[in-house]
Amino acid sequence: MPTPVQLVLGVAALVGLGVLFLYGRQALGAWLRYRDTRVVVCPENREAVAVEVDAPHAAWSASQGRPDLRLEDCTRWPEKAGCGQECLSQIESSPEACRVRTILTDWYKTQPCAFCGKTFGEIHWHDHKPALLAPDGALVTWGAFRPEQVIDVLESHKPVCWDCHLAESFRREHPELVTERPERDGPPPSMA
Ligand SMILES: [Zn+2]
Repeated sequence: MPTPVQLVLGVAALVGLGVLFLYGRQALGAWLRYRDTRVVVCPENREAVAVEVDAPHAAWSASQGRPDLRLEDCTRWPEKAGCGQECLSQIESSPEACRVRTILTDWYKTQPCAFCGKTFGEIHWHDHKPALLAPDGALVTWGAFRPEQVIDVLESHKPVCWDCHLAESFRREHPELVTERPERDGPPPSMA
């Protein structure tokens, strides 16, 4: 038989867990919603900037009732670190649309691969990252760009799927190992 003290402690622990669950869920939801880099238009110079929302602060304030948004970083900081953070209204009104990952994923869905012509299905950013074809014909990956450059890059580059990126990179780096399909009456293919 539990003693009265154990009973009280047990009930208190259960209530505590319930409260943690309720508030924790809101905090976790806010944290998930506001983490990651976003691209917004800076209201001051009307140019694309990359910003980070202070996600832990948003999570904590969400657990208190309502998420309070503030910036943790911006590509125009530290020079403009004292700005009014008016761009936050863009994130508040559509947190998902300005997330860099969302912008890129949506872009890949709008046009086919520049090499194979296939449309993009679900994109596996962790292990099968798609790439880009630059206007000068170079193959580039997203690692070559800063987040605030994303909008300009999307206008000037073409999408390349993971398979074509691999194959085309190999072909360009080792042209001596790649033999084109031989002509019917042509000379036999040479393997270097
Ligand atoms: Zn392709």
